[in-house]
Amino acid sequence: MNVNTKRLIVLLFTNIVIAVHIILWYQFGYQRVGTLSLNGIVSLFGMGLLNSAAVFFIITIFITAIFGRLFCGWGCHFAFFQEAALKILNKLGVSPQIVNSKATIIQYIFLLKTLTAIYEFWLIYGYPQFRIGLGDTQVMTVDLPRSPSIIALFLLFDAFLLIYLMGSRAFCRYICPWAPMLAFFDNVSVWRIRKVRKCLGCMSCTRSCTMGIQVHEEIAQHAAVVNTNCIRCLACTNACQNGTLRYRWGLNVISTVHRFRWLIPGASGYLWYYDLLLVACGLTVAYYTQRWLGSFQTFLGAAWGLCFGVFMIKLLEKRYVSSPETVQKRSFLTIGLIISSTLIWCWATSTPHDIRLLLRGNRFLEYREYDKAIATYRQALTEYPLHDEIRASLALTYKEKGDYQHAIAEYKALISGNPDNAKLHNNLGTVYYRNENYDLAIEEYKIAIALDEHLDAAYGNIGLVFLKEGNIKEATRFLRKVFQNEDEMVQYILLIYKNNQKKNG
Ligand code: SF4
Ligand code: SF4
Ligand code: SF4
Repeated sequence: MNVNTKRLIVLLFTNIVIAVHIILWYQFGYQRVGTLSLNGIVSLFGMGLLNSAAVFFIITIFITAIFGRLFCGWGCHFAFFQEAALKILNKLGVSPQIVNSKATIIQYIFLLKTLTAIYEFWLIYGYPQFRIGLGDTQVMTVDLPRSPSIIALFLLFDAFLLIYLMGSRAFCRYICPWAPMLAFFDNVSVWRIRKVRKCLGCMSCTRSCTMGIQVHEEIAQHAAVVNTNCIRCLACTNACQNGTLRYRWGLNVISTVHRFRWLIPGASGYLWYYDLLLVACGLTVAYYTQRWLGSFQTFLGAAWGLCFGVFMIKLLEKRYVSSPETVQKRSFLTIGLIISSTLIWCWATSTPHDIRLLLRGNRFLEYREYDKAIATYRQALTEYPLHDEIRASLALTYKEKGDYQHAIAEYKALISGNPDNAKLHNNLGTVYYRNENYDLAIEEYKIAIALDEHLDAAYGNIGLVFLKEGNIKEATRFLRKVFQNEDEMVQYILLIYKNNQKKNG
Protein backbone atom coordinates (compact mmCIF):
# COMPACT_ATOMS: atom_id res chain seq x y z
CA MET A 1 0.00 0.00 0.00
CA ASN A 2 1.61 3.33 -1.01
CA VAL A 3 1.71 6.38 1.19
CA ASN A 4 -1.10 8.18 -0.69
CA THR A 5 -3.54 5.32 -0.06
CA LYS A 6 -2.47 5.13 3.58
CA ARG A 7 -3.11 8.84 3.94
CA LEU A 8 -6.52 8.58 2.34
CA ILE A 9 -7.44 5.87 4.85
CA VAL A 10 -6.23 8.02 7.76
CA LEU A 11 -8.25 10.98 6.45
CA LEU A 12 -11.32 8.78 6.05
CA PHE A 13 -10.83 7.62 9.63
CA THR A 14 -10.86 11.29 10.76
CA ASN A 15 -14.29 11.70 9.18
CA ILE A 16 -15.54 8.49 10.79
CA VAL A 17 -14.41 9.80 14.19
CA ILE A 18 -16.27 13.07 13.51
CA ALA A 19 -19.41 11.14 12.53
CA VAL A 20 -19.22 9.07 15.75
CA HIS A 21 -18.74 12.28 17.75
CA ILE A 22 -21.83 13.86 16.16
CA ILE A 23 -23.93 10.75 16.88
CA LEU A 24 -22.72 10.64 20.50
CA TRP A 25 -23.45 14.35 20.89
CA TYR A 26 -26.93 14.52 19.36
CA GLN A 27 -28.29 10.99 19.79
CA PHE A 28 -26.81 9.95 23.13
CA GLY A 29 -26.35 13.33 24.77
CA TYR A 30 -22.63 12.76 25.45
CA GLN A 31 -21.63 16.42 25.47
CA ARG A 32 -18.46 16.61 27.51
CA VAL A 33 -16.08 17.25 24.61
CA GLY A 34 -17.27 19.68 21.94
CA THR A 35 -16.20 20.59 18.42
CA LEU A 36 -12.54 20.27 17.47
CA SER A 37 -11.74 23.20 15.24
CA LEU A 38 -9.01 25.74 14.71
CA ASN A 39 -11.72 28.30 15.40
CA GLY A 40 -10.75 27.65 19.02
CA ILE A 41 -8.40 30.63 18.63
CA VAL A 42 -11.50 32.87 18.77
CA SER A 43 -13.06 31.30 21.86
CA LEU A 44 -9.67 31.24 23.62
CA PHE A 45 -8.53 34.79 22.95
CA GLY A 46 -11.93 36.37 22.37
CA MET A 47 -13.69 35.03 25.46
CA GLY A 48 -10.98 33.37 27.54
CA LEU A 49 -12.84 30.10 27.10
CA LEU A 50 -10.67 26.99 27.04
CA ASN A 51 -13.03 24.66 25.22
CA SER A 52 -12.20 21.56 23.20
CA ALA A 53 -11.61 23.67 20.09
CA ALA A 54 -9.14 25.90 21.96
CA VAL A 55 -7.22 22.84 23.20
CA PHE A 56 -7.26 21.49 19.65
CA PHE A 57 -5.95 24.81 18.35
CA ILE A 58 -3.06 24.85 20.85
CA ILE A 59 -2.08 21.24 20.10
CA THR A 60 -2.26 21.78 16.32
CA ILE A 61 -0.10 24.89 16.48
CA PHE A 62 2.42 23.07 18.66
CA ILE A 63 2.59 20.13 16.23
CA THR A 64 2.88 22.48 13.23
CA ALA A 65 5.73 24.43 14.80
CA ILE A 66 7.72 21.20 15.14
CA PHE A 67 6.55 18.85 12.39
CA GLY A 68 5.13 21.33 9.85
CA ARG A 69 1.62 21.22 8.41
CA LEU A 70 1.19 17.55 9.22
CA PHE A 71 -2.40 18.29 10.22
CA CYS A 72 -3.24 19.44 6.69
CA GLY A 73 -1.69 16.34 5.19
CA TRP A 74 -2.99 13.72 7.57
CA GLY A 75 -5.65 15.11 9.90
CA CYS A 76 -8.05 17.62 8.34
CA HIS A 77 -11.50 16.27 7.58
CA PHE A 78 -11.93 18.40 4.47
CA ALA A 79 -8.63 17.12 3.07
CA PHE A 80 -10.31 13.73 2.60
CA PHE A 81 -13.03 15.15 0.36
CA GLN A 82 -10.51 17.05 -1.74
CA GLU A 83 -8.26 14.04 -2.19
CA ALA A 84 -11.21 11.77 -2.91
CA ALA A 85 -12.48 14.29 -5.50
CA LEU A 86 -9.08 14.33 -7.20
CA LYS A 87 -8.94 10.53 -7.23
CA ILE A 88 -12.41 10.31 -8.77
CA LEU A 89 -11.50 12.90 -11.41
CA ASN A 90 -8.32 10.94 -12.19
CA LYS A 91 -10.35 7.75 -12.53
CA LEU A 92 -12.58 9.58 -14.99
CA GLY A 93 -9.50 10.40 -17.03
CA VAL A 94 -9.27 14.06 -15.92
CA SER A 95 -5.92 15.31 -14.62
CA PRO A 96 -6.51 18.84 -13.31
CA GLN A 97 -3.54 21.17 -13.68
CA ILE A 98 -2.42 23.07 -10.59
CA VAL A 99 -2.96 26.77 -11.24
CA ASN A 100 -0.95 29.29 -9.27
CA SER A 101 -2.51 32.68 -8.77
CA LYS A 102 -2.08 35.56 -6.38
CA ALA A 103 -5.77 35.12 -5.63
CA THR A 104 -4.49 33.13 -2.64
CA ILE A 105 -4.68 36.48 -0.83
CA ILE A 106 -8.37 35.69 -0.36
CA GLN A 107 -7.46 33.30 2.44
CA TYR A 108 -5.40 35.98 4.18
CA ILE A 109 -8.41 38.26 4.15
CA PHE A 110 -10.58 35.50 5.62
CA LEU A 111 -7.95 34.81 8.29
CA LEU A 112 -7.59 38.49 9.23
CA LYS A 113 -11.35 38.80 9.45
CA THR A 114 -11.46 35.74 11.76
CA LEU A 115 -8.80 37.30 13.95
CA THR A 116 -10.69 40.57 14.14
CA ALA A 117 -13.60 38.52 15.53
CA ILE A 118 -11.46 38.30 18.69
CA TYR A 119 -11.57 42.08 18.99
CA GLU A 120 -15.31 42.05 18.33
CA PHE A 121 -15.75 39.64 21.24
CA TRP A 122 -13.86 42.11 23.45
CA LEU A 123 -16.14 44.90 22.31
CA ILE A 124 -19.23 42.82 23.03
CA TYR A 125 -18.34 40.97 26.21
CA GLY A 126 -15.46 43.00 27.59
CA TYR A 127 -11.98 41.60 28.18
CA PRO A 128 -11.83 37.80 28.29
CA GLN A 129 -12.17 36.06 31.62
CA PHE A 130 -10.45 32.71 31.63
CA ARG A 131 -12.59 29.65 32.23
CA ILE A 132 -12.55 26.00 31.23
CA GLY A 133 -15.53 24.42 29.47
CA LEU A 134 -14.54 21.57 27.17
CA GLY A 135 -18.11 20.94 26.10
CA ASP A 136 -18.96 24.60 25.51
CA THR A 137 -19.37 24.87 21.76
CA GLN A 138 -21.72 27.81 21.43
CA VAL A 139 -19.26 30.01 19.58
CA MET A 140 -18.29 27.20 17.25
CA THR A 141 -21.45 25.57 16.06
CA VAL A 142 -24.01 28.33 15.51
CA ASP A 143 -23.17 28.72 11.88
CA LEU A 144 -22.09 25.28 10.73
CA PRO A 145 -23.91 24.03 7.63
CA ARG A 146 -26.55 21.47 8.55
CA SER A 147 -28.75 21.28 5.51
CA PRO A 148 -27.84 18.38 3.17
CA SER A 149 -28.15 20.65 0.14
CA ILE A 150 -25.57 23.12 1.49
CA ILE A 151 -23.20 20.27 2.38
CA ALA A 152 -23.67 18.84 -1.12
CA LEU A 153 -22.90 22.26 -2.62
CA PHE A 154 -19.72 22.46 -0.52
CA LEU A 155 -18.58 19.10 -1.84
CA LEU A 156 -19.51 19.94 -5.41
CA PHE A 157 -17.90 23.38 -5.56
CA ASP A 158 -15.21 23.52 -2.87
CA ALA A 159 -13.99 20.04 -3.67
CA PHE A 160 -14.85 18.87 -7.21
CA LEU A 161 -15.26 21.97 -9.35
CA LEU A 162 -12.54 24.02 -7.70
CA ILE A 163 -10.09 21.15 -8.06
CA TYR A 164 -11.19 20.57 -11.66
CA LEU A 165 -10.51 24.23 -12.49
CA MET A 166 -7.56 25.10 -10.24
CA GLY A 167 -5.94 21.78 -9.41
CA SER A 168 -5.19 19.60 -6.39
CA ARG A 169 -6.12 20.99 -2.96
CA ALA A 170 -7.51 24.20 -4.46
CA PHE A 171 -9.62 24.89 -1.37
CA CYS A 172 -6.49 24.65 0.82
CA ARG A 173 -4.55 26.91 -1.51
CA TYR A 174 -7.16 29.60 -2.14
CA ILE A 175 -9.89 29.66 0.49
CA CYS A 176 -9.09 28.00 3.82
CA PRO A 177 -8.26 30.76 6.33
CA TRP A 178 -6.20 28.39 8.45
CA ALA A 179 -3.65 27.78 5.73
CA PRO A 180 -1.81 31.12 6.23
CA MET A 181 -1.96 30.73 9.99
CA LEU A 182 -0.47 27.23 9.90
CA ALA A 183 2.02 28.41 7.26
CA PHE A 184 3.24 31.04 9.74
CA PHE A 185 4.19 28.34 12.26
CA ASP A 186 5.39 25.98 9.55
CA ASN A 187 8.20 28.46 8.91
CA VAL A 188 10.03 27.37 12.06
CA SER A 189 9.36 23.63 11.92
CA VAL A 190 12.44 21.42 12.11
CA TRP A 191 10.88 18.35 10.48
CA ARG A 192 10.91 18.84 6.73
CA ILE A 193 11.29 17.05 3.43
CA ARG A 194 15.07 17.04 3.11
CA LYS A 195 17.60 16.05 0.52
CA VAL A 196 19.66 13.14 1.81
CA ARG A 197 21.48 12.09 -1.37
CA LYS A 198 22.24 13.31 -4.86
CA CYS A 199 19.29 14.41 -6.97
CA LEU A 200 18.94 13.12 -10.56
CA GLY A 201 16.71 16.00 -11.62
CA CYS A 202 13.98 13.71 -12.98
CA MET A 203 11.24 15.93 -11.44
CA SER A 204 9.03 13.00 -10.39
CA CYS A 205 8.76 14.67 -6.98
CA THR A 206 7.44 17.92 -8.47
CA ARG A 207 4.96 16.11 -10.70
CA SER A 208 3.57 14.17 -7.76
CA CYS A 209 3.37 17.08 -5.29
CA THR A 210 -0.12 17.46 -3.86
CA MET A 211 0.32 21.22 -3.41
CA GLY A 212 2.04 22.01 -6.69
CA ILE A 213 5.41 22.85 -5.14
CA GLN A 214 8.50 22.86 -7.34
CA VAL A 215 10.13 20.27 -5.10
CA HIS A 216 13.23 19.68 -7.23
CA GLU A 217 13.97 23.42 -7.25
CA GLU A 218 13.43 23.77 -3.51
CA ILE A 219 15.84 20.99 -2.67
CA ALA A 220 18.36 22.27 -5.19
CA GLN A 221 18.31 25.71 -3.51
CA HIS A 222 17.82 24.85 0.16
CA ALA A 223 18.45 21.08 0.46
CA ALA A 224 14.96 21.01 1.94
CA VAL A 225 11.40 21.97 1.02
CA VAL A 226 10.85 25.38 2.61
CA ASN A 227 7.61 26.30 0.86
CA THR A 228 4.99 26.75 3.57
CA ASN A 229 2.40 25.08 1.38
CA CYS A 230 4.11 21.76 2.10
CA ILE A 231 1.65 19.61 4.01
CA ARG A 232 4.07 16.74 4.70
CA CYS A 233 1.91 14.38 2.66
CA LEU A 234 5.06 12.44 1.62
CA ALA A 235 3.85 12.00 -1.97
CA CYS A 236 7.23 13.32 -3.15
CA THR A 237 9.33 10.94 -1.03
CA ASN A 238 7.13 8.14 -2.36
CA ALA A 239 7.64 9.28 -5.97
CA CYS A 240 11.42 9.67 -5.76
CA GLN A 241 12.81 6.30 -6.86
CA ASN A 242 16.34 7.48 -6.12
CA GLY A 243 15.76 7.81 -2.36
CA THR A 244 16.88 11.45 -2.49
CA LEU A 245 14.12 12.74 -0.25
CA ARG A 246 13.39 11.97 3.38
CA TYR A 247 11.05 13.51 5.92
CA ARG A 248 13.40 14.14 8.80
CA TRP A 249 14.49 16.69 11.29
CA GLY A 250 17.45 19.00 11.04
CA LEU A 251 18.79 21.97 12.92
CA ASN A 252 19.66 24.04 9.89
CA VAL A 253 16.07 25.04 9.51
CA ILE A 254 16.39 28.65 10.62
CA SER A 255 19.28 29.22 8.26
CA THR A 256 17.45 27.59 5.35
CA VAL A 257 14.24 29.47 6.00
CA HIS A 258 16.24 32.67 6.11
CA ARG A 259 13.11 34.72 5.85
CA PHE A 260 9.52 33.82 6.50
CA ARG A 261 7.88 32.36 3.44
CA TRP A 262 4.28 32.76 2.49
CA LEU A 263 1.67 31.02 0.45
CA ILE A 264 1.36 33.73 -2.18
CA PRO A 265 3.12 32.45 -5.29
CA GLY A 266 6.06 34.55 -6.47
CA ALA A 267 5.15 33.95 -10.12
CA SER A 268 1.51 33.62 -10.91
CA GLY A 269 -0.01 31.53 -13.70
CA TYR A 270 -2.06 34.57 -14.69
CA LEU A 271 -1.51 38.11 -15.79
CA TRP A 272 -1.94 40.53 -12.90
CA TYR A 273 -5.34 41.77 -14.02
CA TYR A 274 -6.63 38.21 -14.15
CA ASP A 275 -5.40 37.74 -10.56
CA LEU A 276 -7.32 40.88 -9.69
CA LEU A 277 -10.43 39.58 -11.44
CA LEU A 278 -10.23 36.33 -9.44
CA VAL A 279 -9.85 38.21 -6.14
CA ALA A 280 -12.79 40.47 -6.99
CA CYS A 281 -15.04 37.56 -8.02
CA GLY A 282 -14.05 35.43 -4.99
CA LEU A 283 -14.61 38.21 -2.46
CA THR A 284 -17.76 39.69 -3.98
CA VAL A 285 -19.60 36.38 -4.24
CA ALA A 286 -18.31 35.33 -0.79
CA TYR A 287 -19.65 38.55 0.72
CA TYR A 288 -23.16 38.17 -0.68
CA THR A 289 -23.27 34.45 0.10
CA GLN A 290 -22.35 35.25 3.69
CA ARG A 291 -25.16 37.80 3.91
CA TRP A 292 -27.76 35.44 2.53
CA LEU A 293 -26.67 32.05 3.82
CA GLY A 294 -24.65 32.76 6.99
CA SER A 295 -20.99 33.33 7.75
CA PHE A 296 -19.71 29.77 7.35
CA GLN A 297 -21.07 29.73 3.81
CA THR A 298 -18.51 32.44 2.96
CA PHE A 299 -16.26 29.58 1.88
CA LEU A 300 -18.91 28.28 -0.47
CA GLY A 301 -19.37 31.75 -1.95
CA ALA A 302 -15.61 32.13 -2.41
CA ALA A 303 -15.56 28.85 -4.37
CA TRP A 304 -18.46 30.03 -6.53
CA GLY A 305 -16.69 33.31 -7.16
CA LEU A 306 -13.38 31.67 -8.04
CA CYS A 307 -15.03 29.16 -10.37
CA PHE A 308 -16.89 31.99 -12.05
CA GLY A 309 -13.63 33.98 -12.30
CA VAL A 310 -11.79 31.08 -13.93
CA PHE A 311 -14.62 30.63 -16.44
CA MET A 312 -14.42 34.34 -17.24
CA ILE A 313 -10.67 34.09 -17.78
CA LYS A 314 -11.15 31.07 -20.01
CA LEU A 315 -13.66 33.02 -22.00
CA LEU A 316 -11.37 36.02 -22.23
CA GLU A 317 -8.31 34.01 -23.14
CA LYS A 318 -10.08 31.34 -25.16
CA ARG A 319 -7.36 28.93 -24.10
CA TYR A 320 -6.60 26.67 -21.17
CA VAL A 321 -5.58 28.49 -18.03
CA SER A 322 -2.73 26.28 -16.98
CA SER A 323 -0.14 27.77 -19.28
CA PRO A 324 2.15 29.85 -17.08
CA GLU A 325 2.91 33.44 -17.85
CA THR A 326 5.68 35.37 -16.28
CA VAL A 327 4.61 38.56 -14.61
CA GLN A 328 6.57 41.29 -12.98
CA LYS A 329 6.92 41.14 -9.23
CA ARG A 330 4.36 43.47 -7.76
CA SER A 331 4.65 42.67 -4.05
CA PHE A 332 3.54 46.13 -2.99
CA LEU A 333 0.37 45.70 -5.05
CA THR A 334 -0.30 42.34 -3.41
CA ILE A 335 0.22 43.67 0.10
CA GLY A 336 -1.85 46.77 -0.64
CA LEU A 337 -4.63 44.59 -2.02
CA ILE A 338 -4.62 42.36 1.09
CA ILE A 339 -4.78 45.33 3.46
CA SER A 340 -7.41 47.31 1.59
CA SER A 341 -9.59 44.26 0.90
CA THR A 342 -9.35 43.17 4.54
CA LEU A 343 -10.39 46.61 5.77
CA ILE A 344 -13.34 46.72 3.37
CA TRP A 345 -14.31 43.14 4.27
CA CYS A 346 -14.14 43.83 8.04
CA TRP A 347 -16.09 47.04 7.65
CA ALA A 348 -18.78 45.35 5.56
CA THR A 349 -19.18 42.30 7.79
CA SER A 350 -18.65 43.70 11.29
CA THR A 351 -21.42 43.21 13.86
CA PRO A 352 -23.66 46.31 14.12
CA HIS A 353 -23.48 48.25 17.39
CA ASP A 354 -27.08 47.48 18.46
CA ILE A 355 -26.51 43.75 17.98
CA ARG A 356 -23.29 43.96 20.00
CA LEU A 357 -25.16 45.54 22.90
CA LEU A 358 -27.90 42.94 22.59
CA LEU A 359 -25.37 40.09 22.59
CA ARG A 360 -23.58 41.56 25.61
CA GLY A 361 -26.85 41.76 27.52
CA ASN A 362 -27.80 38.23 26.48
CA ARG A 363 -24.49 36.98 27.78
CA PHE A 364 -25.19 38.52 31.22
CA LEU A 365 -28.68 37.04 31.13
CA GLU A 366 -27.25 33.62 30.32
CA TYR A 367 -25.03 33.82 33.41
CA ARG A 368 -27.97 35.13 35.48
CA GLU A 369 -26.24 38.42 36.12
CA TYR A 370 -29.60 40.16 35.85
CA ASP A 371 -28.62 43.63 37.05
CA LYS A 372 -25.77 43.83 34.55
CA ALA A 373 -28.05 42.57 31.77
CA ILE A 374 -30.72 45.14 32.64
CA ALA A 375 -28.15 47.96 32.72
CA THR A 376 -26.84 46.88 29.30
CA TYR A 377 -30.29 46.67 27.71
CA ARG A 378 -31.32 50.00 29.25
CA GLN A 379 -28.21 51.66 27.88
CA ALA A 380 -28.96 50.10 24.49
CA LEU A 381 -32.55 51.37 24.58
CA THR A 382 -31.40 54.93 25.19
CA GLU A 383 -29.60 54.66 21.85
CA TYR A 384 -32.19 52.47 20.09
CA PRO A 385 -35.53 53.16 21.82
CA LEU A 386 -37.55 51.39 19.12
CA HIS A 387 -35.46 48.20 19.09
CA ASP A 388 -38.03 45.50 19.91
CA GLU A 389 -35.51 42.70 20.23
CA ILE A 390 -33.62 44.58 22.94
CA ARG A 391 -36.85 45.49 24.77
CA ALA A 392 -38.04 41.86 24.59
CA SER A 393 -34.75 40.72 26.15
CA LEU A 394 -35.14 43.39 28.85
CA ALA A 395 -38.67 42.19 29.62
CA LEU A 396 -37.46 38.60 29.76
CA THR A 397 -34.66 39.57 32.15
CA TYR A 398 -37.12 41.31 34.50
CA LYS A 399 -39.29 38.19 34.37
CA GLU A 400 -36.37 35.89 35.18
CA LYS A 401 -35.26 38.21 37.96
CA GLY A 402 -38.74 38.12 39.50
CA ASP A 403 -39.33 41.85 38.98
CA TYR A 404 -42.80 41.29 37.54
CA GLN A 405 -43.99 44.92 37.60
CA HIS A 406 -41.18 46.03 35.31
CA ALA A 407 -41.57 42.92 33.15
CA ILE A 408 -45.29 43.68 32.69
CA ALA A 409 -44.52 47.31 31.82
CA GLU A 410 -41.96 46.26 29.16
CA TYR A 411 -44.22 43.62 27.62
CA LYS A 412 -47.10 46.12 27.51
CA ALA A 413 -44.83 48.62 25.76
CA LEU A 414 -43.91 45.95 23.21
CA ILE A 415 -47.53 44.92 22.70
CA SER A 416 -48.64 48.51 22.15
CA GLY A 417 -46.38 48.56 19.08
CA ASN A 418 -47.16 44.96 18.03
CA PRO A 419 -50.75 44.24 19.12
CA ASP A 420 -51.03 41.16 16.86
CA ASN A 421 -47.94 39.39 18.16
CA ALA A 422 -49.24 36.20 19.81
CA LYS A 423 -45.91 35.33 21.44
CA LEU A 424 -45.79 38.66 23.26
CA HIS A 425 -49.28 38.11 24.70
CA ASN A 426 -48.24 34.60 25.72
CA ASN A 427 -45.13 35.99 27.46
CA LEU A 428 -47.15 38.66 29.24
CA GLY A 429 -49.57 35.94 30.36
CA THR A 430 -46.66 34.01 31.83
CA VAL A 431 -45.53 37.04 33.83
CA TYR A 432 -49.10 37.44 35.16
CA TYR A 433 -49.14 33.74 36.01
CA ARG A 434 -45.89 33.97 37.93
CA ASN A 435 -47.25 37.02 39.73
CA GLU A 436 -50.35 34.91 40.59
CA ASN A 437 -52.70 37.18 38.59
CA TYR A 438 -54.42 34.13 37.12
CA ASP A 439 -57.39 35.92 35.54
CA LEU A 440 -55.15 38.35 33.68
CA ALA A 441 -52.90 35.47 32.66
CA ILE A 442 -55.87 33.55 31.17
CA GLU A 443 -56.97 36.68 29.36
CA GLU A 444 -53.57 37.12 27.71
CA TYR A 445 -53.25 33.43 26.79
CA LYS A 446 -56.67 33.54 25.16
CA ILE A 447 -55.65 36.57 23.10
CA ALA A 448 -52.48 34.71 22.09
CA ILE A 449 -54.52 31.68 20.97
CA ALA A 450 -56.98 33.87 19.10
CA LEU A 451 -54.07 35.46 17.24
CA ASP A 452 -52.27 32.19 16.55
CA GLU A 453 -54.23 28.98 17.00
CA HIS A 454 -51.07 26.91 16.49
CA LEU A 455 -49.15 28.43 19.40
CA ASP A 456 -48.83 25.26 21.52
CA ALA A 457 -47.07 27.10 24.36
CA ALA A 458 -50.19 29.21 25.00
CA TYR A 459 -52.43 26.10 25.20
CA GLY A 460 -50.01 24.48 27.66
CA ASN A 461 -49.75 27.64 29.74
CA ILE A 462 -53.48 28.27 29.96
CA GLY A 463 -54.03 24.62 30.87
CA LEU A 464 -51.53 25.01 33.68
CA VAL A 465 -53.34 28.07 35.05
CA PHE A 466 -56.66 26.19 35.12
CA LEU A 467 -54.97 23.27 36.87
CA LYS A 468 -53.60 25.72 39.41
CA GLU A 469 -57.15 26.96 39.99
CA GLY A 470 -58.40 23.36 40.29
CA ASN A 471 -60.51 23.65 37.15
CA ILE A 472 -59.58 20.30 35.59
CA LYS A 473 -62.38 20.33 33.04
CA GLU A 474 -61.20 23.60 31.49
CA ALA A 475 -57.57 22.56 31.82
CA THR A 476 -58.07 19.35 29.80
CA ARG A 477 -59.90 21.28 27.08
CA PHE A 478 -56.66 23.20 26.35
CA LEU A 479 -54.11 20.53 27.26
CA ARG A 480 -55.61 18.14 24.66
CA LYS A 481 -54.13 20.46 22.02
CA VAL A 482 -50.63 19.91 23.44
CA PHE A 483 -50.53 16.19 24.25
CA GLN A 484 -50.66 13.53 21.58
CA ASN A 485 -52.58 11.01 23.71
CA GLU A 486 -54.80 10.99 26.78
CA ASP A 487 -52.37 8.91 28.91
CA GLU A 488 -49.60 11.45 28.62
CA MET A 489 -52.02 14.24 29.52
CA VAL A 490 -53.34 12.38 32.57
CA GLN A 491 -49.77 11.70 33.76
CA TYR A 492 -49.01 15.41 33.40
CA ILE A 493 -52.16 16.45 35.31
CA LEU A 494 -51.31 13.99 38.10
CA LEU A 495 -47.79 15.35 38.32
CA ILE A 496 -49.00 18.95 38.60
CA TYR A 497 -51.65 17.86 41.11
CA LYS A 498 -49.05 16.11 43.31
CA ASN A 499 -46.74 19.14 43.15
CA ASN A 500 -49.61 21.40 44.19
CA GLN A 501 -50.42 19.06 47.07
CA LYS A 502 -46.82 19.13 48.25
CA LYS A 503 -46.68 22.94 48.10
CA ASN A 504 -49.92 23.24 50.02
CA GLY A 505 -48.62 20.77 52.64
S1 SF4 B 1 -5.48 24.16 4.51
FE1 SF4 B 1 -7.40 24.16 5.65
S2 SF4 B 1 -8.76 22.76 4.54
FE2 SF4 B 1 -6.69 22.41 3.81
S3 SF4 B 1 -6.01 20.71 5.03
FE3 SF4 B 1 -5.28 22.59 6.06
S4 SF4 B 1 -6.87 23.09 7.55
FE4 SF4 B 1 -7.75 21.58 6.11
S1 SF4 C 1 12.31 12.66 -7.77
FE1 SF4 C 1 14.15 12.49 -6.55
S2 SF4 C 1 15.77 12.40 -8.02
FE2 SF4 C 1 14.00 13.10 -9.13
S3 SF4 C 1 14.15 15.34 -9.05
FE3 SF4 C 1 12.94 14.72 -7.31
S4 SF4 C 1 14.40 14.51 -5.66
FE4 SF4 C 1 15.58 14.53 -7.54
S1 SF4 D 1 6.67 18.79 -1.03
FE1 SF4 D 1 6.25 16.62 -0.74
S2 SF4 D 1 5.41 16.47 1.30
FE2 SF4 D 1 5.30 18.62 0.71
S3 SF4 D 1 3.27 18.84 -0.18
FE3 SF4 D 1 4.64 18.39 -1.87
S4 SF4 D 1 4.53 16.18 -2.09
FE4 SF4 D 1 3.68 16.66 -0.10
